[in-house]
This record gives sequence, structure tokens and C-alpha cells, in this order.
Amino acid sequence: MPSHQPTAGMMAVDPAYVSEQPSAASKPAPKEPVRNTKYDPKKPHITETPMTKKNWYKHVNWLNVVLILGIPLTGLIAAWWTPLYWQTAVFAVAYYFATGLGITAGYHRLWAHTSYSATTPLKIFLAAVGGGAVEGSIRWWARDHRAHHRYTDTDKDPYSVRKGLLYSHFGWMLMKQNPKRIGRTDISDLNDDFVVVWQHKHYLKVVLFMGLIFPSIACGLLWQDWLGGFIYGGILRIFFVQQATFCVNSLAHWLGDQPFDDRNSPRDHVITALVTLGEGYHNFHHEFPSDYRNAIEWHQYDPTKWSIWAWKQMGLAYDLKQFRSNEIEKGRLQQLQKKLDQKRSKLDWGVPLEQLPVMEWDEYVDQAKNGRGLIAVAGVVHDVTDFIADHPGGKAMIKSGLGKDATAMFNGGVYLHSNAAHNLLSTMRVGIIRGGMEVEIWKRAHAEGKDTVMSKDAHGNKIVRAGSQPTKVFDPPASANAA
Ligand SMILES: [Zn+2]
Ligand SMILES: [Zn+2]
Repeated sequence: MPSHQPTAGMMAVDPAYVSEQPSAASKPAPKEPVRNTKYDPKKPHITETPMTKKNWYKHVNWLNVVLILGIPLTGLIAAWWTPLYWQTAVFAVAYYFATGLGITAGYHRLWAHTSYSATTPLKIFLAAVGGGAVEGSIRWWARDHRAHHRYTDTDKDPYSVRKGLLYSHFGWMLMKQNPKRIGRTDISDLNDDFVVVWQHKHYLKVVLFMGLIFPSIACGLLWQDWLGGFIYGGILRIFFVQQATFCVNSLAHWLGDQPFDDRNSPRDHVITALVTLGEGYHNFHHEFPSDYRNAIEWHQYDPTKWSIWAWKQMGLAYDLKQFRSNEIEKGRLQQLQKKLDQKRSKLDWGVPLEQLPVMEWDEYVDQAKNGRGLIAVAGVVHDVTDFIADHPGGKAMIKSGLGKDATAMFNGGVYLHSNAAHNLLSTMRVGIIRGGMEVEIWKRAHAEGKDTVMSKDAHGNKIVRAGSQPTKVFDPPASANAA
């Protein structure tokens, strides 16, 4: 454990958060633990007491309220009488992208997910511009983000969207969080990265310099716009970059499709991608977090991916991790299959054969003679009483099959019925004939277990493909009863 002092700096949320959680197993160490001195694990945390009219202000993280809302508001007011030079506007937008990339390509894809490796110069650049986005240190950010992936949508998820869209956006930072609640994750690799450790140790200095001082100096030295650099390149740019990247936790869990898995909240949407420098294909990202890409199609907007790729060409990044498209397509297909199964289960496919009562042939003939509109096709008995009048081939034709074995008639002897006709017929099933031919084949296959695994969907329903209804017989035997 590095013995550096944690910095409860800007955007550090709860000061206790910066540190490792106290481990129950560890004996009282002679060394001072890496923990904020104000944090006492034995004292009940404020979040463990319900919020009331008297204590609500204790639940609020006032430092972050000032940092996330107060300072931008001051910046907006100051902008009212601060002239905006076009050079400063161009700089602010460019610096917005640079600091945004510090979060998306640096904090997120490099450090939280190790989806590629970076050379030291690139790491220093990303740690610096990422600091300029004012979203906490890499160490703190990546720790929470790993908990977010591991415990998505649960109480251990630091920014669970289940607690509301605004909560997942920035409510989780404006209100104090109980450090004991957030799921534990391993960040030993980050503790071994000297750039991460250095940035964490000197976080406040990094933030002040990269967030505010550098943009002021740049605009001041280059075109004498010191104040504009501070207001537009510093304060307002920080506000926009913060709000944009916060959308990864809110909008990306709320808006769009779920092509890979719909059991959790992450979603894919182009609007989120546009706002977050390409982090909008979040359903894909939660399935394949160590892939350096978020968008896998060439036409999708993912400037973070393009930057990483460009750095690779420049020799600054290497070991770009990528899932095989075979694995990606399997995930996509399984989700599609799930959707198909859901659709299938909503349709009427008729009573399953195994649930139909068995009828003797004579019983079938008797009932048909006594006025019940029964017709047997391939050993399955159907009650077509209410359908006779609607039969597209006319009443006479369908009546001629009643009480007979209409297998051959139905399968081409009189008329080669369509797949839709077989489907419709299946909804009228009422019984099966003892010894009926297709039924016997089906029973045998069922007993051998052949028919059970492959042809049932996730809901246990039999999958009946086009042309495979049990009434469909390709080479119908000549039937004595056939017309
Ligand atoms: Zn997420
Ligand atoms: Zn992630």
C-alpha cells in the first residue's frame, strides 16, 4: 500500500471515499491507514440516519454542490460581461475535447478497464487533461467505475440508475454516500501505476493547474484574453465536460436499445454517443468492457476509439483489446432469440400435443356422425365446427373430410394447404387418435428425448418452424377415406 496521503480534493465526493475501505480482517496496523482523518468507521454514517427537516443539510455534500453547481453558475453570471473572443471560443471547444478524452480514453478505457496499454508520455497527457475535467482522481474514479460494472443496478452500484435518472447523473455526488455501501473492487494494478499514484497524491494541484490556470495562461499569452480563458476555457468548459461525461452514468443507462443483454439497464443510443465522445454504445460496453471500442460499426460515432487507434499508429498506444466478432455476434443472436421467444409465447399455437386427450378411432367417428365438426389430420383431431362457414375452399369441401382421415386430402390429395393453414388448424386441436401416425412418430421421438432439447424455446414452448406443423405430411399415404 503506498503511504501517500489521500487528497480530499475537488470532486472527491465523500472524503472517506478517497480511501480504501477499512478491512475487517486487517489487524490494527502500526502504520497510519490510507484514510481521511475525519473518517471514523465506528461512528454511524450520516446516510444511516433517515433524512428529516432538521438534518437534511447534513446529507448534502456541500463541497460538491459548490463545485458542480455553484462555480458554473458564477461562471455563467461572469460570462454576461466577459467578451468572448473567437480564438478563446475555438480554444474552449478544443480543450473541451481534450479534457473529455482524458476521461473517456484515459480514466475510463485505459485505467478503469485496461482495454489497451499506453506509453508513459501518453499516460501523463491523459492524467493531466483528465484532471482538467475535474471529476476526481483516476484512482478514485476507476475504483467507483469498477464497482459500477461489477454491481450494475444494485445497491452496491455507486451510481445506480434504479435510484433515478438525476441520481445517476449527479445526485450521487451532491448527496453524501456511505462508503460501506459501495461494492469492493480490486485496484491493486492502479496502485502500482506511478502516474495514477502521482496524480492522486497531487490531485488538487493538477485540478487547479489543468482546470483553470492553464486555459487562462494559454489564452492570455497567445491573444491577451486572460479573463476569457479563465471563464470560457476554464469554468464553463469544466461545466460542459462534466455534464457530458456524467451522461455515461445517466443517459447511457436510460435511453436506447439493448441489443446484447436486456437484464440490466445499459443501453445504446447515438445521442448519448454524440454527447459523450463515443461512450454511447453502453449496452455493448457493459457486455464487452475490456474492448477498446464502444462503437463497433465504422459509421458509428466513437472519437475516443478513433483517438486510441491514432495513438497506436503514432506508437503511443499498444495492445488494443478487441473481442472477436464471433463472440459479439453470439451475444447479439442470443438476445434476438430471447426476444423471439417472448413473441412466440404470446401467440396461440394450439394445445401442445402431449396435453391433448387420446381418442379411439371409433369414438372420433361417432362424435363426428353426431354433429360435432371433427376432422383428423395426421392423427390429430381438430374441432372445426365454428370454421366450416369460413373455410376458404367452401363448406362442402371441408365437410367431406369430417369423421374421416383427412391427412392426404389436406396435404395435397384435394388441396395442398399452406403453412398458414396448418398453423390455423393447429389452434383447433382437441385430441389425438390412438395409434395415429404422426403422433406415434412424435411420441417415439419424445421418448428418446430427441424432440425436447432442440425444439423448445426458453419458455419451454415447442418451436414450430414454417412447414413443420405435425399435420404437415410430405408424402401422404393413400387413405381409404380420402376423396
Ligand atoms: Zn454503465
Ligand atoms: Zn465502463
